[in-house]
Amino acid sequence: MTSRSAAAAARATVHGYPRQGPNRELKKAIEGYWKGRVDADALRATAADLRRGNWQQLAAAGVHEVPTGDFSYYDHVLDTSVMVGAIPARHRAAVAVDGLDGYFAMARGTQDVAPLEMTKWFDTNYHYLVPELGPDTVFAADSSEQVAQLTEARGLGLAARPVLVGPVTYLLLAKPAPGVAAGFDPLTLLDRLLPVYAEVLADLRAAGARWVQLDEPALVQDRSPAALNAAARAYRDLGTLTDRPQLLVASYFDRLGEALPVLAKAPVEGLALDFTGPAAGNLQDLAAVGGLPGKRLVAGVVNGRNVWINHYEQSLATLGTLLGLAEQVDVSSSCSLLHVPLDTGAERDIDPQIVRWLAFARQKTTEIVTLARGLARGTGAIAAELAANRADLASRAGSTLTHDPAVRARAAAVTDADGRRSQPYAERSAAQRAHLRLPLLPTTTIGSFPQTAGLRTARADLRAGRLDTEGYEERISAEIREVLAFQEKAGIDVLVHGEPERNDMVQYFAEQLTGYLATQHGWVQSYGTRYVRPPILAGDISRPEPMTVRWTRYAQSLTERPVKGMLTGPVTMLAWSFVRDDQPLGDTARQVALALRDEVNALEAAGTSVIQVDEPALRETLPLRAAGHAAYLAWATEAFRLTTGGVRPDTQIHTHMCYAEFGDILRAIEDLDADVISLEAARSHMQVASELATAGYPREVGPGVYDIHSPRVPDVTAATALLRKGLAAIPAERLWVNPDCGLKTRGWPEVREAVENLVTAAREIRGGL
Ligand code: GLN
Ligand code: ZN
Repeated sequence: MTSRSAAAAARATVHGYPRQGPNRELKKAIEGYWKGRVDADALRATAADLRRGNWQQLAAAGVHEVPTGDFSYYDHVLDTSVMVGAIPARHRAAVAVDGLDGYFAMARGTQDVAPLEMTKWFDTNYHYLVPELGPDTVFAADSSEQVAQLTEARGLGLAARPVLVGPVTYLLLAKPAPGVAAGFDPLTLLDRLLPVYAEVLADLRAAGARWVQLDEPALVQDRSPAALNAAARAYRDLGTLTDRPQLLVASYFDRLGEALPVLAKAPVEGLALDFTGPAAGNLQDLAAVGGLPGKRLVAGVVNGRNVWINHYEQSLATLGTLLGLAEQVDVSSSCSLLHVPLDTGAERDIDPQIVRWLAFARQKTTEIVTLARGLARGTGAIAAELAANRADLASRAGSTLTHDPAVRARAAAVTDADGRRSQPYAERSAAQRAHLRLPLLPTTTIGSFPQTAGLRTARADLRAGRLDTEGYEERISAEIREVLAFQEKAGIDVLVHGEPERNDMVQYFAEQLTGYLATQHGWVQSYGTRYVRPPILAGDISRPEPMTVRWTRYAQSLTERPVKGMLTGPVTMLAWSFVRDDQPLGDTARQVALALRDEVNALEAAGTSVIQVDEPALRETLPLRAAGHAAYLAWATEAFRLTTGGVRPDTQIHTHMCYAEFGDILRAIEDLDADVISLEAARSHMQVASELATAGYPREVGPGVYDIHSPRVPDVTAATALLRKGLAAIPAERLWVNPDCGLKTRGWPEVREAVENLVTAAREIRGGL
C-alpha cells in the first residue's frame, strides 16, 4: 500500500441521508396515504422525488459515491425483514394482497393484527421494528426495492453504493416470534439467512453495483464468542462468493473492539469505521491489528449523530494516520445522517454567529467533501475552509454562551455534601410520614393528564398570535382546576397539576434555561412518520427564573392534599437533546443539575412537600459497552442527587422511569437516593417489583398498575390482582399505587375510569390489611 496513492484517491461519501425532505414531505405523503387522501402511485412518486433530490444534492456538494437503500417508507430494519422474506405469519395475508399496505400493517398494526414491536436503535433516539424469528422461519430473497433504488441513482449517472443491514446485526436485533420459546437464539438461523444475502448481492451486482455496504453496528456491543464466530463465518461465506459486488462492512456508534480483528481478517474489500466520540479508540485498535492492507477504509470522521461543526485539523490528523493503514481511505460520516436535521440554512431564529457552529446533514456533507479534498490534494487546497473552520471553532470556544464564568464557578465549587440529603433515608422517611400523613398504599399519578385537542389548539393559537398570553393562561388554569377536581373526587392522595402547560417534557424546560437553543426546522426521525425537534444544549446552563413554581403553587392553592411538583431530570434533559461535544457529558449534566436544583428548592420554598424528578432516560442512555457503564452511572446519579440533595428531610423526592429492563441499573437506582420510585410494571406483571425486592431495595416503590400504552382500561379486579402481586414483593408500608407513566396520550374517558378503578383497588386492599 502506498499512502500517496491512497491519499490521491480519497473520495467522499455518506452512510445515509435524512429521508423526510426539506418540509417533511415524506411524512405528509405517508400520513395522507394512510388517510386515503394520497394514492399509492402519488406516494411512490413523492418518495422517488425525495430520493432524487437527496442524491442530486449530495452529488452537487461533491460526494463521489451516494448511498442507496438508505431511504425507507418507515424503517430500514423493517425493509430488511421484507428483503429477506421474514414476514410474521399474522401479516402474510395482508402482504400478499398489497405489498405496501402489508408493509404498513407490520409497522403499525391493524384493527385485528398487532404490529412488530418497536425499540431503540442502539443508543440513538431512532426506533426500529424488531424482526420476529423462530425455528420455522423460512427466508426468501426479495431484492426488488434495493435494486429499484440503485437503478434510480445510476439512472442519474451517479456512482451509487447500496446500504443494507448486515446479516449478523439483523439476527442480533431480532427476537423470538410470538409462540416461540424465549430461549430461541435467532443467530442459529445464520446458515439459512446467508444464501438470501448472497442472492441479493448477486442481484445488486447484476444491477450495476460495484460496492455494497453491509451495516453491522451490533458488533460494537459486547458480544459473545458465538456472535463473533457468527460474524467471522458470515463474512467468510459472503466474501468467498464469486458473483458479488465488493463488500464494505460498516460499524458505528462505538469501537469494534474484539470484532475488529474478525472483520479485518474477513475476505471483504473494505471496512467503514466510526472515529468519533466513544468510537475514537478504533484508531489505535486499527493500528494494533496492522491496519487493512490492500483494503478500502471508509473513515467516519464527521459525527453523524450530533450537530456541531467538525474540527478539520483533528480530522485531517486522523485521516493522515489512517493513510498508512489501508490501501484506500475515503471520508464519510460516522453513521447515517438520518440522526441529524437536514439543513442549518433553514434556521432563521438562531443567532447567525451561532449557526456557524452548527452542521446538520447538508453542512456535514460539505465538511466530508472538504476533508476528502484536503486529504487528496493537501491542506493548501482547502486553505480557506480551514481558516473559516478555525475561526468558527474559536468563536464557539470564546463565546460567553459556552463559557459563563458564574455557571463554571458554581459547578467547580460543588462538593460531595451538595449531592447528599441532610439525613439518611430511614430518618427522612419517618419525617415524611409524620409530615405527609398519607394512608397505606397511597395513590398518585405520574404527572401528565390528557393533552386534549383543546390544549394543543390553545398552544398553536398562542404561537400564531390568535390568543394572547392572558387568554392562554386562563385556559391552562381552567385545565388545572378540572384536573384537580377530578383527582379530589376520585380520591387520589398525592395530586398533580397535570402538566397542561408543557408541550414536551424536555422542550418545556429547554425553552426556559439559558444555554439551550431551539430550532425551527430541526426535525429528526424518531420512528415511522414521527419526527422530533430535539433542543440543542449549546452553552453553559443557567436558570434565569423559576420554571414550574407558578402552576404548581396554583394547583396547591386549590386543595388541602399534597400536590406533587414535577420536573424532568438532568440525565433525561441531556438524553433527549443534542449535547455539547466540547466538554465531558458529566460536566454538562452537572450544570443542568444545578439549574434544576434551584427549581427543586424553589418548589419546596413555595410549599411543595412532594417533588418528582423524572428520569425515564437513565437506563436508555447507558453506554453500548459495559466498560463505559460505571463512569456513566457515576455522573448520572451524581447529577440526580445534586438536583434533589438540597431539600429538607421531610420533603419527599420521587423519581419515575418507564421501560423495563432495570436489572442492570438496580444499584444506580439505589444511588439516586430518591425516597419513592415509580416504574413501568403493568405489562411485565409487576416483575420489576420482585426484582427490586430481591435486590434488597429499601425504599418506597410504585410499580405501575395501569399500562398507559394500551387503550385497555384495567378493571378493579385486574388492578387488585396486580397490587396483590406487588404486595407479595414489597411490604404495604412501602408500596404506592399509580399508573405506569404519564396520561398525556390517553383520552379523558379511559383515564377517568382507570384512575377510579385504581383508587378503588387500593381502598379494597387497604381495608383488608
Ligand atoms: N411526568 C411525565 C408525564 O407524566 C413523565 C413522562 C415520562 O416518563 N416519559 O408525562
Ligand atoms: Zn414514564
